[in-house]
Amino acid sequence: MTDGAGRVVIVGAGHAGGSAAAFLRQFGWAGEIVMIGTETLMPYQRPPLSKAWLKGLVAHADLELRPPTFYQTNHIDVRVGATAAAIDRAQRTVTQADGTVVGYERMILATGSRLRRLAVPGVELSPILELRDIADADKIKGVLRPGQRLVIVGGGYVGLEVAASAIAIGATVTVIEREARLLARVASAALSEHVLAHHRTKGVTIELAASVAAIEGAAGKVAGVRLADGRTIAADAVLVGIGAAANDGLARAAGLVCADGIKVDAAARTSDPHIYAIGDCSCRPFTLYWRDVRLESVGNAVEQAKQAASDICGKPVPLAEVPWFWSDQFDMRLQMAGLAFDVADTVVRGAPNDGKFAVFHLKDDGCVQAVEAVNMTPEYMAGRVMIGKRTVVDAVRLADVTVPIKQLMA
Ligand SMILES: Cc1cc2nc3c(=O)[nH]c(=O)nc-3n(C[C@H](O)[C@H](O)[C@H](O)COP(=O)(O)OP(=O)(O)OC[C@H]3O[C@@H](n4cnc5c(N)ncnc54)[C@H](O)[C@@H]3O)c2cc1C
Repeated sequence: MTDGAGRVVIVGAGHAGGSAAAFLRQFGWAGEIVMIGTETLMPYQRPPLSKAWLKGLVAHADLELRPPTFYQTNHIDVRVGATAAAIDRAQRTVTQADGTVVGYERMILATGSRLRRLAVPGVELSPILELRDIADADKIKGVLRPGQRLVIVGGGYVGLEVAASAIAIGATVTVIEREARLLARVASAALSEHVLAHHRTKGVTIELAASVAAIEGAAGKVAGVRLADGRTIAADAVLVGIGAAANDGLARAAGLVCADGIKVDAAARTSDPHIYAIGDCSCRPFTLYWRDVRLESVGNAVEQAKQAASDICGKPVPLAEVPWFWSDQFDMRLQMAGLAFDVADTVVRGAPNDGKFAVFHLKDDGCVQAVEAVNMTPEYMAGRVMIGKRTVVDAVRLADVTVPIKQLMA
């Protein structure tokens, strides 16, 4: 199988890889498609893992990106439990960990991201949990019980979603965040403040500007988390959610250009014209923001899958979308669009105290650059359109909820 003529090999059978395979067939790729994935499952969705799956509200079939029959019907050779170990760009082959060599005409790298690990004394104790895949989620499920004391290290989206799910299960939850506010890297101060207040109202204890010095325990079992200020927070289990880095080792070893992920252009092409990179593992240009960004979101994974499949099938590549993201925590539906780079003004529309508001980020010329909405979907939708059209808005009218949002879109 080393002659790769007519074959697309996708490395990584996650959200991006699974979507790319489907788009390739949709856009008319008639050749072979081989998808190599380390996990033992067909492509599935990760967002429910910290939300509905943890609470036991959805079945396995609800997580699947597509039913297993889809891959059979579309002649997509999905090799689960298989890892791509090396790429030979000169020969255009990829070698699996079991020694199987597969040739490609085009390759799509969709290797996702890998979790950052906590480097403190005591990390060998148990249970110290993390959440990237379904196996991790099932481990958390097995540990979480009513009355259980869970300490979550990291106040990012995944940590906060698990906090909300754990409270729903009846656990006692403490979140430890190193920064002075939650979601410090990814949300505005106004949103962080609201999320903090809401979690505290729901019973989550949150320690800000607090770093972990050690995990403490006895006989191999976690007993607590010691903070740098000397306090110890009692714990039966610890979940570490301190972010992820691009899974770009395979690409680096093959000599592809990487910088916070595998560098790609607007068609998801890497520095090798035969190789594409999509999803969490890639760093892509956003002309809307005049910079390259690595995003970890479903929207990004699907859009780049579309770009790569379009290019491979000789179709026009869609223009870059407005990036978007969502998170569900308790009764808060958070919806974000755009990226808040170089913003001059922040406008709050709605009432944070009522749990329904949106934060608009404007450039110095009044152009909408990003929006963050809490239980305010129409504002999120309108904001997304405004960002794409570079709409200039009047900040005073935007802050006035009696002015219909649609009037501001013109
Ligand atoms: C708990 C959780 C909650 C999330 N919630 C949200 C949300 O609410 N909204 C949102 O937009 N996004 C959310 N995300 C992020 C979103 O799921 C990711 O951005 C998305 O899965 C990225 O898709 P991907 O295909 O790039 O990576 P992944 O889905 O991670 O897939 C990569 C796959 O590649 C495999 N792989 C890696 N290296 C190799 C190799 N050498 N050979 C073979 N296979 C390999 C991996 O095992 C993995 O299966 C969440 C993520 C997590 C973990």
